[in-house]
Amino acid sequence: MVIALHDVWKTYTMGKVRFDALKGINLEIRRGDFAAIAGPSGSGKTTMVNMIGLVDAPTRGEVEIDGRRTGGLSRRELTRMRQDVIGFIFQSFNLLPTLNVFENVELPLLLGRRGSRSAALDKNARRERVEQLLEDVGLADKRRNLPSELSGGQQQRAAIARSLVNQPKIVIADEPTANLDSENARRVLDLMKKENAEYGATFIFSTHDKTIWEMANRVVFLHDGIIESEAARQ
Ligand code: ADP
Ligand code: MG
Repeated sequence: MVIALHDVWKTYTMGKVRFDALKGINLEIRRGDFAAIAGPSGSGKTTMVNMIGLVDAPTRGEVEIDGRRTGGLSRRELTRMRQDVIGFIFQSFNLLPTLNVFENVELPLLLGRRGSRSAALDKNARRERVEQLLEDVGLADKRRNLPSELSGGQQQRAAIARSLVNQPKIVIADEPTANLDSENARRVLDLMKKENAEYGATFIFSTHDKTIWEMANRVVFLHDGIIESEAARQ
């Protein structure tokens, strides 16, 4: 089991008002799954991917990643786990504004810990990997541009390339195709599928788009913070 959620609750507090965004989620994701979290706006998709990506901690319950319970880990251990195991694609991209597209995509390779797979790559191997990904997402001609010079959809694709560059075991994406036209959405999904098939990376992504969730081998339907149903196909 590469990811497991055990009775996960998330309660947001705004002054005196409390709101349960997740209400006792139980979920198991297997290695190599290509899993979608589907549901309408406000159903808890972002909250749930943030729990799985160790971006935010549950109010109650336990998140297990790569066979490790994460509840007792220090901030440093959590950061290390995020760097080593997880590629996270934020809905808001989080590209660094002063680095160009190539440098943004290369960055996780430079942050890799000594001894990790990515740290073993020399400069030429890094360049090859980054350029291949930029080609796959259709941004080869934008590699010297700054994020501010890109459209929303192009920034989205750069963020996706960055999340995949060091071949993380787990890739988590919050609505990865929300800003893309259908051609680029298809391109991004094809790339995710290719990484899934070639490296056995586990993908879990939220979406409210039916054409996207139909490409998943598992779909978890969220409604008001509860898993309403699940579908699986071989
Ligand atoms: P989705 O991604 O499916 O649209 P979210 O996880 O963003 O859903 O939000 C689920 C619910 O939690 C919504 O009702 C939203 O208003 C609420 N919510 C999300 N983030 C916060 C927050 N930081 N503070 C208070 N309420 C929040
Ligand atoms: Mg959301």
